[in-house]
Amino acid sequence: MNVSARRAYALLKELAYERVSCSAAEKQAAQRLLAEAQSAGAQAHIEEFTVPCGKVHHAKLVVTKPYVKEYQVTGYERAASTPEGGVDLPFYYAETLLPVHLENVKGKAVLINGRLRRADYEKLQKAGAAAILTFSGSTIDRISETDCDIRKLRETMTEPFGSAVALNMRAADAAEIVRRGATEMHIELSAENYDGISQNVCAVIEGTEKPEEIISFGAHYDSVYFSTGVYDNMSGSVIIMELLRYFAAHPPKRTMKFNWYGSEEQGLLGSKAWTAAHEDELAKHVLMINIDVAAATLGQNIAPVLATEAAVGYVDALMKEIGVACQVKLDIYSSDCVPFADKGVPAVNLCRFGTAGAGYIHDRRDNFKSNYLDEKSLNITLQQALHLAQRVDGAASFPIEKKIAPEIKDKVDEYLFRKEPKA
Ligand SMILES: [Zn+2]
Repeated sequence: MNVSARRAYALLKELAYERVSCSAAEKQAAQRLLAEAQSAGAQAHIEEFTVPCGKVHHAKLVVTKPYVKEYQVTGYERAASTPEGGVDLPFYYAETLLPVHLENVKGKAVLINGRLRRADYEKLQKAGAAAILTFSGSTIDRISETDCDIRKLRETMTEPFGSAVALNMRAADAAEIVRRGATEMHIELSAENYDGISQNVCAVIEGTEKPEEIISFGAHYDSVYFSTGVYDNMSGSVIIMELLRYFAAHPPKRTMKFNWYGSEEQGLLGSKAWTAAHEDELAKHVLMINIDVAAATLGQNIAPVLATEAAVGYVDALMKEIGVACQVKLDIYSSDCVPFADKGVPAVNLCRFGTAGAGYIHDRRDNFKSNYLDEKSLNITLQQALHLAQRVDGAASFPIEKKIAPEIKDKVDEYLFRKEPKA
């Protein structure tokens, strides 16, 4: 038996629906992956974990001065609610969060540019902003073809800096509000916080010769709102399922674990939960291979390695053996590899990125209808993963040193907010 891109692609089609953290659909996809892993002959089970969730019941924004107009908004999940009946606030556009703007935000509804990053949130909270407004999309978006994104205040922000009233709107509306010189607005937000349940799907194939050495395969199977997540990242999920099938039929020397992570899009919550729950076995982990985004027709292969330059050279040579052009580099990658590298486990990511104009991520365009994915391109990453897995598993002595370069450790610490990024 060999791997089959066709079979992988068929499974991808079956699981092409929105799978947001803690939703019934995420659970349904987990059950489907579990059944598939079991049918391949592997021992498999589901591990649940708790996720801080939020549900927004009502969100409203009306500019009241010098004109009156209501705009479409979404409330941030885990945001603070306004008092019943809402609040009336002066409006301020802080195009940067330099002191010249921060000095003016106290007690106001503050619109910022771009994503609400943790450092921005800290500044706005400390400066006393009464509400935070962000926007997404572009000023030329057609309402019928786009969504007003739903965002969340992650615990990494609310735990240290407290919760806030926060709303997201469309870029075109944000531009209109600023252009028309809004000075006052009425805001209503009613939100509820609760603990949701997400899950990782976990399978294992015991090694025949060196069972005490563990190679871990990972891919997240959740998606963001409005996205069917076929590219990000059911593509990676079906690829590691093929590897599981292959190694179930061709027993590996070393133990192989296959994890499909839930809630990656909420801050790597599945892999963080898994590494925390399995801390005692991480000493046995020799490598983590993560796949996050694949199958793009027009694209390129990238392999960020969270280990050492020696590991980069090794992976690069393996890609050359099979004639796959791949940019292998020592770098962090924002995915489930991070909690492993944080615990000292070397990690390799295999990704195939869609190029500009042929790669859609984190919105409704991550969908088969966008015509940017195909089976042949999925096979490229599948073959890379298979070759890497076969070569490391078959090695007499494990070829990748269990070491994380200091520059990667620094990047991981910055990523996990333990350290200020270098200016
Ligand atoms: Zn992803």
